[in-house]
Amino acid sequence: MNKWRRYADELAELQAKGLYRTINVLESAQSSHVRYQGRDMLMLASNAYLDMCRDPEVKAAAAAALAEFGVGSGGSRLLTGTSTPHARLEQTLARFKEREAALVFNSGFAANSGIIPALTKAGDHIFSDELNHASIIDGCRQSKAQTVIYRHNDMADLAAKLAASGAKSGLIVSDAVFSMDGDIADLPELHRLAEQSGLLLMLDEAHATGVIGARGRGIEEHFNMSGSVDILMGTLSKAFGAEGGYVCGSAVLIDYLRNNTRSFIFSTSLSPLVMAAAGRAVELLEQQPERVARLQQNVRVFTAALHAKGVAADSQTAIIPIFVGDEERALAVSKRLFDEGYYISAIRYPTVKRGEAILRAALMSSHTEAELERAAAAIAAALA
Ligand SMILES: *Cc1c(COP(=O)(O)O)cnc(C)c1O
Repeated sequence: MNKWRRYADELAELQAKGLYRTINVLESAQSSHVRYQGRDMLMLASNAYLDMCRDPEVKAAAAAALAEFGVGSGGSRLLTGTSTPHARLEQTLARFKEREAALVFNSGFAANSGIIPALTKAGDHIFSDELNHASIIDGCRQSKAQTVIYRHNDMADLAAKLAASGAKSGLIVSDAVFSMDGDIADLPELHRLAEQSGLLLMLDEAHATGVIGARGRGIEEHFNMSGSVDILMGTLSKAFGAEGGYVCGSAVLIDYLRNNTRSFIFSTSLSPLVMAAAGRAVELLEQQPERVARLQQNVRVFTAALHAKGVAADSQTAIIPIFVGDEERALAVSKRLFDEGYYISAIRYPTVKRGEAILRAALMSSHTEAELERAAAAIAAALA
C-alpha cells in the first residue's frame, strides 16, 4: 500500500491545473535589484516597499544588537525572551502609531491568528471582509464567536449583516490595504458602523504602514482620522524590512493580549537583533518621510506608464494588480517577464478566485522612474 498516493495524486492535479507552486531561491539581499539564478533582475514582487532590508542603518542596529545580545532570545516573551530591544521597539511603535501601548508578536500571522480568538468568545460576532488575509481567516476559525463574512469593501452589505445579526459585541476586522488588489478599506464607514454597533474595529496595516498617509503612518493618516481604530495591527516584515507582527492600542487592550494570546505566550520570541533592526527601521521612517513620498511618486509613474501602453492598472498603494484571468496564461506571462529580467509574481487560486489570476506588481521607494517605465513596456508587450 502506498500511503503517499493520495498526496502525489493531488500534486499531479495541481500541476495539471497550473496551480502547482515552487520556491525561488534568491542569491542576494532583498532590494529593487536581486540576483536570481546568477542573473540580475528588477524586483517587482517584494513587500520591502521602503527598501529597508539592507539599509545601512538598519543593518548597523542589527549588528550592534548581535554583538551585545547574541542570536536567540532563549524563551517566550513572558519568561526570558524579552530584552531591551523588544521593550524599546514596543515603545517606538506606540509612539509611531500614537497609541498608549504596543505588543510585538513573532509574525503578523501569529498576531492575527492569536489576537482574534483572544478578544472574542461564544456569543460575540466577528464581521470579516471576504478578501481578508489568511491569518485573519485562521483567527476567525479559531474563535468561538460567530463569523460573518461581508462582501469585499461593501459597506452596505456590512451594515445589512450587522443589522440582521443583532450583534452587540465582538469585532469588525479588515485589511487596511488588501494584499492582492492593493485597494484601501473604507475607514470612515467602518468606523461609523463600529461606533453605531458597539463592536471593536480592528485593521491590519501590513501593506498600509510605510505606504499610505503623507508620512507613511497608515490608514488613519490617509483618511485624516487619527485615533479611530481600536486595534491597529501590522507587521515589521514589509515596509520595515525586518520580521515580527505588532498590535498598537489602549493600555487595557495590550495588557489583555499579553495575558491571553496563545501565539504570544507559547512561542519563543524573536531574536533581539531582529527587534533592534525593526526599531531602527521605524525611527528611520519617522525621520525620513521622503521615503514614502518617493514610493507614492513611483506608483503614479508606473500606473501612468502602464496606461500609456494600454494596460489597465490603478492603485493608490504599492500593490498594483494587473488582471490576466486564466491561470496558465498568467504563469506564461510571468515566465516571459522572468526570462527578460523582471521578477514579478503571477497570483493564482487559491490566493485569488479561480479564473481571476493577476500579475501583482509591488513597488519600492528605490525603483527609478526609468526602471518602472522599462518594466511597464515589458509587461504590456508580454500581455499583448
Ligand atoms: C503579510 C501579511 C500578514 C502576515 O504578516 P507576516 O509578518 O508576514 O506573518 C498579515 N496580514 C496581511 C494583510 C499580510 O499581507
